[in-house]
Amino acid sequence: MAARGHGGPWPRPESCRVIGVANQKGGVGKTTTTVNIAAALAMHGQRVLVIDLDPQGNASTALGAERDNQARSIYHCLVEDEEIRKLAQPVPDIPHLWCAPATIDLAGAEIELVSLVAREARLKRAIDAYDTSELDYIFIDCPPSLGLLTVNAMVACDEVMIPIQCEYYALEGLGQLLNNVNLVQAHLNTGLKISTILLTMYDGRTRLSQQVAEEVRSHFGDLVLETLVPRSVRVSEAPSYGQSVMTYDPGSTGAAAYLEAAREMAHRTPGTGR
Ligand code: ADP
Ligand code: MG
Repeated sequence: MAARGHGGPWPRPESCRVIGVANQKGGVGKTTTTVNIAAALAMHGQRVLVIDLDPQGNASTALGAERDNQARSIYHCLVEDEEIRKLAQPVPDIPHLWCAPATIDLAGAEIELVSLVAREARLKRAIDAYDTSELDYIFIDCPPSLGLLTVNAMVACDEVMIPIQCEYYALEGLGQLLNNVNLVQAHLNTGLKISTILLTMYDGRTRLSQQVAEEVRSHFGDLVLETLVPRSVRVSEAPSYGQSVMTYDPGSTGAAAYLEAAREMAHRTPGTGR
């Protein structure tokens, strides 16, 4: 219990932690994890910015951000050097939480970025220009691919967090993801590390979920958070109300799990699993 930091306020990191939430597979819980861990941290006094880097904009929707076609979005930071500060929106009902939204423009960014100078480092540039002394965490919700948007996230962040769904084929493609992290580390961002793995949509009644969880733990050891996020209907309902499950149904098992996962993250030294 003490290691998970029960009781007492959550410690602030010494400097802002920039965490990319990545897995090129769709539907594994990247967005859900980003939104709910960010909300849980903010509800415990941390200052948090979510950058929505997925053209589908699901994180923006779940955080109640405005994203009509007129709205400036993270696309403009990447392609037009807009400042993040100018488009980050406060999240309704959750103090200390902001969202830099995605709009559908971002769908073209993978192509448009190709011809730009320092195309892999556009997001890093935008984050470097932001006064991060005002923040404790930046979470970057990546799209389900390993293209230039995800590479931009990996160049801009210090830590990669990988949600893994406790399902058949969960580990398929993970090698490719790890390989990409290694490539970015070797050539573009030497400080990059995988800091956190979170098991999502766990169903304790099935042998399969248990097997996947065991396999991931035996492979990644202390990088895997102790907390398992269970499959929970409330978690999947929350986004349609423009909310995180943390505000939509704080008493649900999903909210409790994300709160625990956030607490573990806040109390760990990144990358050591302790
Ligand atoms: P990704 O961002 O990796 O594509 P999402 O976070 O959008 O994945 O999740 C995929 C789908 O699964 C969404 O419909 C989401 O609401 C649902 N989902 C995610 N986590 C849970 C959970 N713990 N319980 C039930 N449904 C979940
Ligand atoms: Mg997503």
